[in-house]
Amino acid sequence: MGRYTGPACRKCRREGMKLFLKGTRCAMAKCPIDRGRPAPGMHGMSRRRKPSDYGVQLREKQRLRRQYGLQEKQFRLFFDRAHGKDGVTGEVLLQLLETRLDNIVYKLGFAPSRRAARQFVSHNHVLVNGRKANIPAMVLQPGAVISVKDRPKSRGFASASMEIAASGGKDIPSWLNLDEKNFSAEVVSVPTRDEIAPLVDEQLIVELYSK
Ligand code: SF4
Repeated sequence: MGRYTGPACRKCRREGMKLFLKGTRCAMAKCPIDRGRPAPGMHGMSRRRKPSDYGVQLREKQRLRRQYGLQEKQFRLFFDRAHGKDGVTGEVLLQLLETRLDNIVYKLGFAPSRRAARQFVSHNHVLVNGRKANIPAMVLQPGAVISVKDRPKSRGFASASMEIAASGGKDIPSWLNLDEKNFSAEVVSVPTRDEIAPLVDEQLIVELYSK
């Protein structure tokens, strides 16, 4: 399936929850979810039948996939990777997604949304351990140091994003140690399930892919 190029808010309306795809605009009163807009399509307002088990599992998978902005194929690769590792597959999946470079850049406030973070990384504004890192899907391990390149364009963008994040009360996760002054941060540990925000039941996703 090709890349979705339509309105981001439509995805939130489809999932019936805020996926925070548009950065600062998601905190504004005009967010369609906050305004109670229904699911898209001509049947969005109509009462729905109780979904099947498959339908519930599928929705949960779509919610998680869309929060991280991945296409189905990429998401499946992450699931397979999690499945091949020791530990609880659903939790490992969330940990892998959460420690992607683009997500960490977003969590640190260097970019206002995951989509912007992906572009920021792929346009070569970020270093990992002092080296060029332009692959958004790169998974970082504890001890990795992320920094914004010391260039006016890179730091100017990150600085503006960090200001907006701070004014919106965005917290930096405890598993990341941010050095705001130097536009850098270290991954302190792999986040635990409790430290990962997506409000999804990852077990349903494991059940879906285990069929
Ligand atoms: Fe749109 Fe953001 Fe609200 Fe989602 S959370 S509906 S992307 S404004």
